[in-house]
Amino acid sequence: MLHDLRLECGGRIAQIDHLLINRFLEIYVCESKRFSEGVAINEQGEFAAFFGSKPYGIASPLEQNRRHMAVLAAVFKTGQVAPPKRLGFTITPSLHGLVLVSKTARISRPNAKIEGIEMVIKNDQLKAKIDRDIDKDNNILGAAKLIGQDTLEDFARRLAAVHEPIRFDWAAKFGLPAVAPAPVSLVKAAAKEQPVAAPTVTAEPTVPQEASGNDKKSKLACSICGTVVAYNVAKFCWFNKPRFGGKVFCMECQKAVPTP
Ligand SMILES: [Zn+2]
Repeated sequence: MLHDLRLECGGRIAQIDHLLINRFLEIYVCESKRFSEGVAINEQGEFAAFFGSKPYGIASPLEQNRRHMAVLAAVFKTGQVAPPKRLGFTITPSLHGLVLVSKTARISRPNAKIEGIEMVIKNDQLKAKIDRDIDKDNNILGAAKLIGQDTLEDFARRLAAVHEPIRFDWAAKFGLPAVAPAPVSLVKAAAKEQPVAAPTVTAEPTVPQEASGNDKKSKLACSICGTVVAYNVAKFCWFNKPRFGGKVFCMECQKAVPTP
């Protein structure tokens, strides 16, 4: 099981919360959502999370998984990570997307059948779900796909090795030029000719002290879906206090927060 895997292939990025691989080379791409106040899925397959009892439309985690699986498929197809071979034949991994919701969260499902909705499960149902899927697929073809534990571990290690650490583009986020602004003296000199808008240096907002352990985790949890975000993402929200009210939102849920 790999956690927080960030893959990049052909300019597309997949940030995968958890990834499980078994010896049938079935890969489960898991998107983990806490949804502390529950989640509702409507007949159109649209997702809404609740925050302060108010519903907020959020990006479909099923769609997120589909995008992640497409990047993963490309990683295998391009040979960035070559899938294992058995008897000289490359085995193509089968990809499955799962949305893991915390077991205490309420999930309201629509009456209509939405494609992929069975992939939205409580996190304590994960093992049962995967075991069931394997039983369903336990035919001769499936058995032929079986790879050794060593091969599986090697494959998982190679996949983990292409993990791309996040490079957060602060300059773009704040609309600043990508290059460092010219030294002040030069800016002043240029200002005589034509006014140059020097980037205003604002004081650092008060960022909550870095705490340890669970306390730190809870500070970094998205206020809507509960996903624990990277420190940089949380910092971005704290910087934008007028918009986010000092609360933390993951990049997906930020889109749901109305601009004041
Ligand atoms: Zn969120």
